[in-house]
Amino acid sequence: MFMVFAICAPQNAVKVEVAVKDELTQILEKGYTDAEVAAAKKSWMQSRQVSRANDTELVGRMAGQRYIGRTMAFDQQLEDKVAALTPAQILAAMKKHLDVSQLSIYKAGDFAKAAKIVLTDLIQIKRLGEQKRGENERFRKHLKTHNFVERKLRHIAEEVEGQINCLDCGNCCRVATAKLAQRDVEKLAKYLGLPLPKFLREYTELSEEEGRILKRDEEKGCVFLSGNECTVYDARPGSCEDFPHVVRGAGSLQSRVWAFIDRACYCPIVYNTMEAWKVNQKFSPIPK
Ligand code: SF4
Ligand code: SF4
Repeated sequence: MFMVFAICAPQNAVKVEVAVKDELTQILEKGYTDAEVAAAKKSWMQSRQVSRANDTELVGRMAGQRYIGRTMAFDQQLEDKVAALTPAQILAAMKKHLDVSQLSIYKAGDFAKAAKIVLTDLIQIKRLGEQKRGENERFRKHLKTHNFVERKLRHIAEEVEGQINCLDCGNCCRVATAKLAQRDVEKLAKYLGLPLPKFLREYTELSEEEGRILKRDEEKGCVFLSGNECTVYDARPGSCEDFPHVVRGAGSLQSRVWAFIDRACYCPIVYNTMEAWKVNQKFSPIPK
């Protein structure tokens, strides 16, 4: 069984999870260096020698071995095998047995308190998102000119998404327009059992900047929004499916970031993700 343990403040659990997944992904890509393997072997051997130097631990170990029909020769053989391992053998074994996407993660702590750190108050998000427009614009440029690991930023966005329930929010459907491609129009008309011209007339309009969009009311938002729920969820347009496009979306993450400056003013996922990314990238909010 492969296990990783970590102790941290509840509000840092997301960062720890991201760091562990990231570290394991890197190991599976690059493996360990000779020096890392030598250091790990040395410390493992030393810990076993120290344990054997303690009478109580030694007696406990011998009794345990005897109970399962082994002698201390088993320990000797195990240590010889570990001493002979090469970085390539370790990497091959990890690739064979470890799949980062299948890790089971167990957390214990006061996460209700920590969850408050993810900001979901839409009034505050509007205020802070507007306040941070300049900062976020600089951060966008920072990402353009600095190397960053897209996978790592995606992990962070996934963790933020996991802490926010869109059904408690629905703000994008109230604030943003929903652009329609031809296939969206056809799918929605079919879903509603309407002839295409009737659907286009009753539920869509043409916007100068965005082309065909779903009709919307300035206060209530999208024509298909009821409370915080989408009444055509199974046939919703492609642009709604992956919204807010931080974890996935068309094009590279870098090419999508320009849209996040506006979205950080109304979408809790985008706002909190941008904030977490800035911390991760050690981005200074103060202009140099
Ligand atoms: S179609 Fe549904 S998901 Fe898309 S904006 Fe309208 S209510 Fe929201
Ligand atoms: S995507 Fe963002 S704005 Fe839309 S419902 Fe989810 S949290 Fe709210």
